[in-house]
Amino acid sequence: MECVVCGADNLKQLCCIKMEKYMSISFSYEEVIGKCDECGESEHMKETDKNYLEAFEFAKPRIVKMLIGHLAIQKLSRPYIERVLGIRQRTIEKWLVEGCSDGELVLLKIIHLHPELLIELDEIPKGE
Ligand SMILES: [Zn+2]
Repeated sequence: MECVVCGADNLKQLCCIKMEKYMSISFSYEEVIGKCDECGESEHMKETDKNYLEAFEFAKPRIVKMLIGHLAIQKLSRPYIERVLGIRQRTIEKWLVEGCSDGELVLLKIIHLHPELLIELDEIPKGE
C-alpha cells in the first residue's frame, strides 16, 4: 500500500484494540492503522470503520437494554411513553426483544437524557 503523504510504497499495517463508550456501555473494536516507514505518517484504514460498526452492532442490545431498563428508574412507564410518542403498544418491549433501528436508539437516548420532553409532548393538544 502507498503512503498518501510521501508516496512511499511501504505502508505497514498496525492493529490495536480501542475502547469506546456509548451511554456508559463500553465496547471494543480493532483499529487498523497504516504507518509509513519513510515519513512516519499514519492513516486510518477503512477496516477501522467496518470494525467499529460491527462492534457497535454487537453492543447495541446491551445499550438498548440499559436505556429501557433505566426508564423504570426514571419512573417512566412504557405504556406512557408509547402513548405520548403515538407509537404502537408494546413497541418498547419489541425493541428490547428484537432490537431497534439506529433512529429508534436515538429516540431512546433523547428520552434517557431529556425525559421532561415527554411531559412537554404530552401537554401539546391533540391534532397539533
Ligand atoms: Zn510516507
